[in-house]
Amino acid sequence: MDAKKIAFALLIVALAATGLTQTPEPGKKKEIKITWLGHSAFEIVSPSGTDIIIDPFLTKNPATPTELKDLAHYHPAYVLVTHSHGDHLGDAIELAKMSKAKLVCVAMLEAFKKGELPRELFEGVNVGDVVKAGDVKIHVVPAMHSSEPSGRPVGYVLEFADGRSVYHEGDTWIFGDMALIQEFYHPNIILMPVGAVADGQMPQMAWLAVSRYFKPEVVIPMHYGALPGSSTEEDLRKVFGKDPRVVFMKPGETKSF
Ligand SMILES: [Zn+2]
Repeated sequence: MDAKKIAFALLIVALAATGLTQTPEPGKKKEIKITWLGHSAFEIVSPSGTDIIIDPFLTKNPATPTELKDLAHYHPAYVLVTHSHGDHLGDAIELAKMSKAKLVCVAMLEAFKKGELPRELFEGVNVGDVVKAGDVKIHVVPAMHSSEPSGRPVGYVLEFADGRSVYHEGDTWIFGDMALIQEFYHPNIILMPVGAVADGQMPQMAWLAVSRYFKPEVVIPMHYGALPGSSTEEDLRKVFGKDPRVVFMKPGETKSF
């Protein structure tokens, strides 16, 4: 073998060692990982690893498994809050401080006075804003609810690099502008609040909203099963459980899509 051939052979060996000659596994789907933490709380991890926690009501959430109540367990890059009710704001300020995550929400002055969240960890938003979070675009959309003591209720549509999107409705009743959310963001996965009288929207109304305005592939019921008097999985199965798109999760469970 002459010197040129030896050099070429060495180059091939080096490339193989670094994995550069490997072709990506064909058909390997990049997954969105969704973990339900109970009530409205979710951890969503993008295919590239951007970790986003929504409505982290954890330490006082009766539905959150004990091992997931420890805020040190989480390392989000972003914490999104849909409105300032305690069952949504929850541990958001403490979690942002501990993990140095950016807290995204509509301004909540009282909460910030109490929590003393450093300015650099807070990204104030309003309806229509878009926040770039790594490989995820977060669209802020309206919700039909209230938000005492401050701010206003919103939902979030997380748009991923492959074009898919996940819509966290927040706390809401059905509203006509859901048609615009479908037109603009066409969510593939909808996280739908269905707690009934004691705990938010009636499941029948939530299902009417989803079936009238959206064309999702997956619907994950949420905001139930935590507070007293809330819907149970059995109640919900009677209303929409036969639809194959409905995916019931258990608090603490992770599913990949
Ligand atoms: Zn709520």
